Amino acid sequence: MNAEIISVGDELQRGEITNTNSAYLAKKLNSLGITITSQVTVGDDPDAIVNCIQEVRNQSGLVFICGGLGPTADDFTLPAVARGLGAVLATDDQTWHHLLSIFSQRQIPVQPGNKRQAQYIGELIPNSRGLALGSWIEKGNQRFVILPGPPSEFRSMVDQEVVPRIIREYGIQKMIKTRALHFLGRPESTLMSELKPIMDTFPDVTITSYVKPTNIELRLTTVADDEAEIKLKFDQVTKMILKKEDQYYLGMGEDFNLANRVVELLKRQKLKVTGAESLTGGLFQSTICSVPGASEIFDGGFVTYAAAAKVGLLGIPDSVIKQHGVVSSATAKAMAEHSRRKLGADIGIGFTGVAGPDSLEGQPAGTVWIGMAYKDQEPVAKQLRLAGYLGRQEIRLLSVQYGLQMILQRIGK
Ligand code: ATP
Ligand code: MG
Repeated sequence: MNAEIISVGDELQRGEITNTNSAYLAKKLNSLGITITSQVTVGDDPDAIVNCIQEVRNQSGLVFICGGLGPTADDFTLPAVARGLGAVLATDDQTWHHLLSIFSQRQIPVQPGNKRQAQYIGELIPNSRGLALGSWIEKGNQRFVILPGPPSEFRSMVDQEVVPRIIREYGIQKMIKTRALHFLGRPESTLMSELKPIMDTFPDVTITSYVKPTNIELRLTTVADDEAEIKLKFDQVTKMILKKEDQYYLGMGEDFNLANRVVELLKRQKLKVTGAESLTGGLFQSTICSVPGASEIFDGGFVTYAAAAKVGLLGIPDSVIKQHGVVSSATAKAMAEHSRRKLGADIGIGFTGVAGPDSLEGQPAGTVWIGMAYKDQEPVAKQLRLAGYLGRQEIRLLSVQYGLQMILQRIGK
């Protein structure tokens, strides 16, 4: 089955807001095995909406029209779609009275446009998060679904009303499900070629890769009619992947965030972390602090950009830097260990390297050393050779991710 999505709104057309609604809907429809044949955006213009409706007549089985159901002068969607389909506007008395009572309780005057929020064509779709009703109307062999624009209302109506109704009416049994696995430190092409035998073993699970700024995501996709069956299959594939790639694995899930995961583990194990940062200039500490509750595991830390600050603030012997250089394993380890001791933390991380674009001490941009001191154990260090063309910000961002990964590997996933 095919579907088309029509988004309505001047701000969408001008790029002032990102069309997250259509992305959300497209993903949901895709997971039901419905193909999206087109997505268009029209402005808040009734004639443009009518034209658009006429163009999609007798095309896809499902047509979604999203946004522009509010009470203001620029909200024309419902009357325009009604005109395009030759449908009659109906008013839902219950919604209208509900709306009147809300307005009177809040002592807000009712505007003529408010009546539109209680109107619909065909059958109404209830809106538990807002005022405007949705509509579901059948014309010939097509179904038209009209939904409001505010994302919280849109999403809850898609999840609670539209998807269940589509499943019911079209007798959809098989579902497309995905699972996201996150990795860092493995070139994408190497990772994918390592996984080839697993793909051959499980031909009904598709594995695709996606390079994100902070890591590589593997996406498992399969079609089945039973949640338990899907989970079992995903678990088997995940296990086989991790058998090969565990050392690069960060975690699972659509919303996975490495800093969140590391902070959660540190909290659980009652460990405190600190750091001394050169090329990252505080980004590691800022990333840790972006997680709610970071104060439980982070007391403070250092930004030591110049060699003199490394010596002065951290107390690293001048001789270490002179002998090994600023961008070196020895300096990274000393930064980690000295920061750890100064703050009385369990873990200290040191970042030193070349963010670029210029090279430093003969080392090209992208050369980074990360030191880690864990309790009283001998500090360790890891060298990154990131591509210089990534640019300063990306190199700094990735350095932080690798630092977090070192902690993850030390304290367990
Ligand atoms: P309202 O009663 O708020 O006017 P509406 O149904 O008329 O609701 P719109 O006016 O189209 O909806 O959009 C309301 C707000 O919802 C927009 O200002 C925007 O912030 C958000 N929004 C609308 N469409 C989208 C979309 N496709 N993706 C993301 N956000 C959207
Ligand atoms: Mg509006």
